Amino acid sequence: MHELSIAHSILSIAGNAVPANSNTVVSAVGLQIGELSGIEIESLKFAFSVIKSNTLLQNAELKIQIIKGEASCNECKTVFPVSSFGICCPQCNSSSMKIMKGREMRVNNIVVDE
Ligand SMILES: [Zn+2]
Repeated sequence: MHELSIAHSILSIAGNAVPANSNTVVSAVGLQIGELSGIEIESLKFAFSVIKSNTLLQNAELKIQIIKGEASCNECKTVFPVSSFGICCPQCNSSSMKIMKGREMRVNNIVVDE
């Protein structure tokens, strides 16, 4: 399951960001997920809730911000929103485009309770 490996990488990114052996409690992890990333948000939340127990993220919530997809047409340079693959340029109907935004998945911030 794709989401499970993503949940593991969130755990290790957050783990690296927080000093080991501290009493730090992570209360939230902010994520930015592009709507073209193919990540199922609900599956990711579920996977994260399963693997976070007994880690320093056990009390952490995922705060997910969706990044809207955006593409630039290779023919007419129109920039338009894309919410799924397989659509064409609204201006010239070309299917040749460059995805500008929406494929990312990144850990944006880690919130700790001091
Ligand atoms: Zn176009």
